[in-house]
Amino acid sequence: MLEIDAAATIAEQVSPTSKDAAEKRRDSYLRCDRCRHPITLVSAAIRVDGQHLHHVVNPHGFEYRIGCFRVAPGCRAEGPRVEAFSWFQGYDWQIAHCESCAEHLGWRYECDGDAFFGLIRDKLSDLDEPRSA
Ligand SMILES: [Zn+2]
Repeated sequence: MLEIDAAATIAEQVSPTSKDAAEKRRDSYLRCDRCRHPITLVSAAIRVDGQHLHHVVNPHGFEYRIGCFRVAPGCRAEGPRVEAFSWFQGYDWQIAHCESCAEHLGWRYECDGDAFFGLIRDKLSDLDEPRSA
């Protein structure tokens, strides 16, 4: 169900200019867009159910574009593990916050010891540089 080879694809999407650039992007951090805390690496991107990016809608009608990552060391998963309304069959979920500023960044999914993070793409910045504004 899970593959770990999505990083190259993601890197190419982020920086389609050259293979070298794509290779470099694999080691790039994806940062919390609010506080710039490093959340995960481009190379941690995985595919779940055949794709990295998922367009999902929660029971309240909120839409999210989430990317799947094997690990997210900059996230803190909190609260009860919930089985209801999971976007991934068989996986329960916990809320995942930025461990630095506590911004809600996505969810941690787990099923029989297999775990990954689904992170809200719009809340992660691809830029490694500090924000200028
Ligand atoms: Zn943050």
